[in-house]
Amino acid sequence: TYALEISDLKKQYDNGFEALKGVNLKVEKGDFFALLGPNGAGKSTTIGILCSLVNKTSGKVSICGEDIDLNFARAKQYLGVVPQEFNFNVFETVFNVVVTQAGFYGIPTVIAEERAEKYLKQLALWDKKDVQSRMLSGGMKRRLMIARALIHEPDILILDEPTAGVDIELRRSMWEFITKLNDAGTTIILTTHYLEEAEQLCRNIAIINSGEIVENTSVKALLKTL
Ligand code: ADP
Ligand code: ADP
Repeated sequence: TYALEISDLKKQYDNGFEALKGVNLKVEKGDFFALLGPNGAGKSTTIGILCSLVNKTSGKVSICGEDIDLNFARAKQYLGVVPQEFNFNVFETVFNVVVTQAGFYGIPTVIAEERAEKYLKQLALWDKKDVQSRMLSGGMKRRLMIARALIHEPDILILDEPTAGVDIELRRSMWEFITKLNDAGTTIILTTHYLEEAEQLCRNIAIINSGEIVENTSVKALLKTL
């Protein structure tokens, strides 16, 4: 089974705009995969559908073999998502933002707290654990989103434009962290509008433009054609 399998996915927004015009994608387990495309291409729409924040118009999506229409509860266990917008409770402490998330997955508190400590340390946020999350810088908030997305140790981590607006130093340390996760077996899918990011990090790549996949290949093969 694939980590992610998308067949003929279409999305028409209420205003009639066709954001996805029949997207097909397969991502192998363990892959480091980039969905590359300019602003407005349909990347966030695709991610939104995967985590059921956006209703698809038609098509099929399976996550680790689970059809999201048939068994979303099961599918979402496999998935950690880091959306572009910061959507945590800004009045909660950093530690609690991460631990609270565990409740959605039925993870016992003791385990949740252990994992929160582990990931906050790895993401250099441990010294901020008691700080209200609204006090964090943009880059720290981004890392907090990552720690929170990992609380149920998902098979797949999806990051929507993870380094948008993040400075170069921090970008590099985020890349390192994500690469280590991938080395440890987590499937990584990220969206980006930087070819450089896709090229440096990822193994396989799909290019999306105006709601259509225009290229789907390995990064190596793509670089040869440029
Ligand atoms: P990307 O993430 O690649 O920048 P999006 O998936 O956010 O692209 O958007 C794809 C297209 O759909 C854009 O043209 C955007 O303006 C449009 N769009 C996004 N959300 C909505 C919405 N709620 N209603 C109408 N159009 C939308
Ligand atoms: P883009 O994806 O084109 O960079 P965004 O508007 O998504 O544009 O983000 C611009 C910057 O603002 C990014 O650095 C992002 O991390 C940051 N940002 C996004 N949402 C929030 C938020 N709710 N609070 C503070 N900063 C945010």
